[in-house]
Amino acid sequence: MPVCDAPFVLAIHGGAGVIEPEALSADEARVIHAALGAALEAGHVLLRDGGTALDAVEAAVIRLEESPCFNAGFGAVFTAEGAHELDAALMEGHTRRAGAVAGVRTVRNPVRLARAVMERSAHVLLAGEGAERFADGLPDLERVANAWFGTPARHAQLLLAQAREAAPGDGLKGRYFGTVGAVALDRHGRLAAATSTGGMTNKRFGRIGDSPLIGSGTWADARCAVSATGWGEIYIRCAAAHDIAARMAYGGASLAEASEAVILGEVPALGGDGGAIAVDAAGNLAMPFSTSGMYRGWIDRHGQRCTRIFRD
Ligand code: ASP
Repeated sequence: MPVCDAPFVLAIHGGAGVIEPEALSADEARVIHAALGAALEAGHVLLRDGGTALDAVEAAVIRLEESPCFNAGFGAVFTAEGAHELDAALMEGHTRRAGAVAGVRTVRNPVRLARAVMERSAHVLLAGEGAERFADGLPDLERVANAWFGTPARHAQLLLAQAREAAPGDGLKGRYFGTVGAVALDRHGRLAAATSTGGMTNKRFGRIGDSPLIGSGTWADARCAVSATGWGEIYIRCAAAHDIAARMAYGGASLAEASEAVILGEVPALGGDGGAIAVDAAGNLAMPFSTSGMYRGWIDRHGQRCTRIFRD
């Protein structure tokens, strides 16, 4: 594609949750900012040179999947059975093509498999054994043992979650971090979104969250691209990502109005919390969250680059 001077925009997230500034050391914060910066750069080089929004969101998410800081790919959370089941999706706005996988156990970069589902199958979503078998037919896709995804820090989180869940009255609110996602507008005016996650710590075998469900955790059309993070069950019940797009399409809301109405209104109204990143066709960005923090970064249409954790 010819390179033009039109602006491009990229935003990424590494999950929303109860992240307390006191609980995060300066060193940990530095590592997280560096990981977010590397993911922004992976998407930036493609968008700068006229690459597609779809390639950029995939590249940024792969970089985040490779970082143990985040709950996707390497460093994914543990299920209640001590395993890892990974979900991912991506969607291209102008074609509304989409691909997703759920409950994947051996694919190093689930977002790559989601893209293959979109481009090399007749389907949108493949789950569990079916997704693994589809991956068997893709020799270029790297496979790993399920235990490869785990880290000692994630295992400690599993033990903590199991102890807490045994306590009466404990809910899941705020108890997730690290799902990753990206949204982009390319120089050709095309939008895309991608999301990848290990889901929620101590989740049941077979549990599928919002991330791979098109319209819940991931959405892109010609108006906007959205990647969400938060308590997945509530995002599914709100059709959160699509609700943002629908408020713009049917109600004439701006991106900021639509995303705040859903993330700060609809989701909390059902008892959930979390955040989302979104970009519209004009290059506006919105990144609302109702938790104390959301790992995030962006390059705006003026080329301004930033990474943030808290509400600063
Ligand atoms: N939304 C993800 C899920 O429920 C979790 C997260 O965003 O951290 O699977």
